[in-house]
Amino acid sequence: MPEDKRGLDFRTRAVHAGERGSQPKGQPVAAPVYPSTTFTYDSMAEMDAVFAGEREGYVYTRHGNPTVDALSDAVNTLEEGAGACAYASGMAALHAALFACDLPPGSTVLASQDLYGATAGLLSKVFGVFGVQTIQTDFFNLDKLQTRARELRPRVLVAETISNPLLKVCDIDACAEVARSVGARLVIDNTFATPYLCQPVRHGADFVVHSATKYLGGHGDVTGGVTVVADSADMPALVAAMKLVGGILGVWEAHQILRGMKTLVLRMERQCANARELAEKLSGHPRIARVLYPSLDAGDAAEEICRRMLRAPHAGALVTVALADDTREAAFRFMDALRLCVRSTSLGDVYSAVLHPATASHRDFSPARRRELGIGDGIVRVSVGIEELTDIYDDIRQALEA
Ligand code: PLP
Repeated sequence: MPEDKRGLDFRTRAVHAGERGSQPKGQPVAAPVYPSTTFTYDSMAEMDAVFAGEREGYVYTRHGNPTVDALSDAVNTLEEGAGACAYASGMAALHAALFACDLPPGSTVLASQDLYGATAGLLSKVFGVFGVQTIQTDFFNLDKLQTRARELRPRVLVAETISNPLLKVCDIDACAEVARSVGARLVIDNTFATPYLCQPVRHGADFVVHSATKYLGGHGDVTGGVTVVADSADMPALVAAMKLVGGILGVWEAHQILRGMKTLVLRMERQCANARELAEKLSGHPRIARVLYPSLDAGDAAEEICRRMLRAPHAGALVTVALADDTREAAFRFMDALRLCVRSTSLGDVYSAVLHPATASHRDFSPARRRELGIGDGIVRVSVGIEELTDIYDDIRQALEA
């Protein structure tokens, strides 16, 4: 393409004008968005070297993109990992982590029974098809976990830093020890804690997964996921999942999540403080049987785990209430009466949102299984936002009394 495009026909100029000019002289302060699906080079030899991995560079956005890499690098930096890869959603990130664990037919995954419903579904309905068996057990009973691990010899252990919706904090140090004792890898979904509250790699996790749709994005307007590795030897498998499965994160989404992350600390500080105060104010309310919040009446052992795992004094920005009337009708009546808190199936946004686990995150579980897990019909999870706490509390109180 000649430098001076003026000699070309208008129709040609219309296509090429403004493209592939010289690089800007100043370093952009904010990471630029590169929506280009392909990257070109001055010579085929150069392009060939990049394709072969002999030279650094980008060729095709499904194989890697500078904007998406800026996000992966940012999450990796906050998690203090050895590398990271971004995907189209938290589920795609979980899939990539499990894929990277190399699960042949006949292998076993030992997963926490307190797992996000779709993660349990991914294990049983997707990996299950390929002959991988998943057994769920109580990760908060470490003796039982160790016994099950010895019996089953799993290749992978999967847990969440803060469980959903009962908000129990996982002892990642202990889980990593169990995993090591049987030669298994440890995958930790750190979505609820964020790297600000917990960095699972420091506690022995091999893979850390985020639904960036939640706190990392933080504004309820972007879907994405990121997987971080503790050992760079696991990066080629994550990259293979990106290139070959193809669930890549879009560049605009990467940009939006990266922007959200700038205020992660400010949002988390405020949301966690709001959540703690809300939990304290709601406990003892006559319409509530129990307020679940890590570190609130959790007992000495659970409080010690909370202090060791999470950035004190914070314990997350979710509060779960078990209504005294443990029925779906009571939960719906309460949720319908809310005027400020939004009824939505997500969490981690700047606004306060409520979710009914029995009909949302745990809908696919049988009522008996939900009861076994302690997820009654009267359980409601509140994702506490950055609003003024009095307004959130007043809204919840008036709805409880409705
Ligand atoms: N992990 C946890 C703990 C979640 O709560 C969710 C979604 O709610 C996911 C993973 C999946 O994330 P995404 O919806 O971005 O695929």
